[in-house]
Amino acid sequence: MNFHFFNRLSNRLFFVVLSTALAMGLLISSIQIFLDVRYAQEDIKKQAHQLLAMMKDPATQSAYNIDRSMAEQVVEGLFQNEAVFYAAIKTEIEPSLASNKRPLKEFKYRELSNMIFGQSLYFSLPLNGTIKTRLSNRADYFTATAHYGVLEINIDPAYATQALTEQASQIIYSGILQSTSFGIVLTLIFHVMITLPMTRMTKSLESIDPLRPSSVQLEAPKGHKSDEMGLWINKINELFAAIESNSNKRQAAEAHVERLSHYDVLTELPNRVLLNKRIEQTIVDADQQNEIFSILWCGLDDFNSVNMLHSYNAGNHLLLSLSERLQQEMQTIQTISRVGGDIFALVLPNISSHLDAAKIAQRVLEVVRSPFQIDDTPVSITASIGISVYPHDGTTPDELLKHAENVVQLAKAQGGNRYQFFVESIDQKIKDTKRLEKSLSVALEQNQFSLLFQPQMNLKTMHISGVEALVRWHHPEHGLVPPADFIPLAENNQSIIAIGKWIIDESCKALSLWHEAGHPQLTMSINVSATQLHQSNLIPVIKKTLQKYNLNPNKIILEITETAVMSNLEAAIKMLKHIKKLGIQIAIDDFGTGYASLNHLKRLPFDKVKVDKTFIDDMLDSPENATIVGAIIKLGHNLNMEVIAEGTETLEQIDFLKKAHCDYAQGYYYSRPVNKNEILSMMEKAEPVTTTPSNLYPLNPER
Ligand code: C2E
Ligand code: CA
Ligand code: CA
Repeated sequence: MNFHFFNRLSNRLFFVVLSTALAMGLLISSIQIFLDVRYAQEDIKKQAHQLLAMMKDPATQSAYNIDRSMAEQVVEGLFQNEAVFYAAIKTEIEPSLASNKRPLKEFKYRELSNMIFGQSLYFSLPLNGTIKTRLSNRADYFTATAHYGVLEINIDPAYATQALTEQASQIIYSGILQSTSFGIVLTLIFHVMITLPMTRMTKSLESIDPLRPSSVQLEAPKGHKSDEMGLWINKINELFAAIESNSNKRQAAEAHVERLSHYDVLTELPNRVLLNKRIEQTIVDADQQNEIFSILWCGLDDFNSVNMLHSYNAGNHLLLSLSERLQQEMQTIQTISRVGGDIFALVLPNISSHLDAAKIAQRVLEVVRSPFQIDDTPVSITASIGISVYPHDGTTPDELLKHAENVVQLAKAQGGNRYQFFVESIDQKIKDTKRLEKSLSVALEQNQFSLLFQPQMNLKTMHISGVEALVRWHHPEHGLVPPADFIPLAENNQSIIAIGKWIIDESCKALSLWHEAGHPQLTMSINVSATQLHQSNLIPVIKKTLQKYNLNPNKIILEITETAVMSNLEAAIKMLKHIKKLGIQIAIDDFGTGYASLNHLKRLPFDKVKVDKTFIDDMLDSPENATIVGAIIKLGHNLNMEVIAEGTETLEQIDFLKKAHCDYAQGYYYSRPVNKNEILSMMEKAEPVTTTPSNLYPLNPER
């Protein structure tokens, strides 16, 4: 603590005390001197009168006798006193019987002396005598006063003044000395009792941490515990404690607000606001290091059904487990954020190419896919990921996120469980898809759908055993839109439920028509999508339609894809068992493309397995592929299921399948999907159908 000299409390005290003491000393000294002057004046008078009184008798004698020599002796005697500068004895007869005079003393304070006492001090004494006389007629005496003369002196006040000034200077010097030593002692006392402890207290304040002021308890200086300083220290300690507790509360509140504004409440992952900030920072870093980075927008496929089939709590539980899993497994990811109900966004810095992003996206898909335990039952979900790459696909967080989000729709539209990169052409595709989705919403009421039917050949009897209903959309502008393009859209916006209801009605109507036309053995395979399967009114709709057309449930086969089943295994098992109870058959579609393990297949009540076209395509290329198809057929049979081969296009394939004991074949080799009248005419043609010549039913152009 460096103070200016005059700002030091002890120094200021010293000067104040000293000057006050000096002023007081001077005042007291002045009063003392004033009194001394009065005494001196009195004293001169007194001394003069004593002097005169002393000389009264000889002076009276000399005046009475007109004795000049005696008078001169008297005057001489008076001059013994050095202050007397003029003395005279005067009588009536002899006006100057004796007198003497000497010059005034050389005196430097004459002015002062004149001021105090006047220029000279004159004193006189009448010289009287008593005369005893007797009147002639009286015997007694009487006394009378006789006046003989006067004794005069003039006194020089210089001597008294000199004594007075000596005395006064003594008074002043001792006054100054007294007050100075008093001031110094007082200052020392102040210094020891106030300044030093206060300096110590101020020093100890320096050790206080402003953020945690009550972490150090201030101590009162020794000997000051119970005086005002001790009280002050206690109050300061109390104040610090209050400040710290307040600031702790405020910090806690601020931290809480900060968490709320930057983190998701459920998963405690960064929210959209923080994500934006992190992306901004990643952009800065990428620019500096001349690197690219990527954003993954990861949306869960059909997460709603988890909420619907289990509970909202179960859905939350799944999201929480997923967030923990992602954080554990994906440590290379800089930021994992939850930006919406079932949407996570991931920031991948330091990637060297699109391929890196694809690898990580693939890993995320796997992490999402491995089943979750909810209420002791395994639940599987999949995700669709949109990928945007900085700087190619956007230069701001908003652009990058928007583009990644947009392509997610595309990944979903392709069946989900996949990732999709953003590129300009894809952007266009998204816009087209959005437009298509809009026109899809009016397609049903405007009768834009129709059904085609593709025969399924029994490879043992070589009869058409049934057909698969395949929906067609005749778009007023775009013409025929393939189901692979619009079914996912319809699933996405739930319109598949109404469209599916129409398909069920339309296909059952066609089937009842054929049954009535004399082909009661024909079955109808109806495709059921994941959304349809998990909605609650599928069974009542089927039941009602079967009643409406008076159909045997056994002639209906619901085709359910492997992925639709696996997306929610337990719920699917429940649903399928329910369907089975009605007598309806169930086929697993696209078998081999999803993730259904043999274990799952055992638990599911399937009647038929449809081997996916990709296996049939490759079947004849290599012995390994042939073995796979053979194994699937055997497996199906072992599990008491019939096996249908899809997408059979050649006679060689048919021959192979026959040898492998495959039960049914469906494909262009026999027929493309055709309308219901063509099915009827096919049925009415030669029966049984033989495999030679091939293409008994001419390949119909796709309608
Ligand atoms: P899917 O159920 O696997 O249907 C078989 C698809 O393969 C049909 O395509 C069919 O035309 C085609 N196909 C049949 N044989 C051959 C062949 O020998 N060679 C080739 N290259 N293709 C063959 P489509 O009609 O375009 O349907 C595609 C997918 O759309 C279907 O796959 C199914 O998942 C879905 N879909 C079609 N109709 C419906 C429907 O009514 N409801 C639902 N939910 N989905 C449907
Ligand atoms: Ca199918
Ligand atoms: Ca299929």
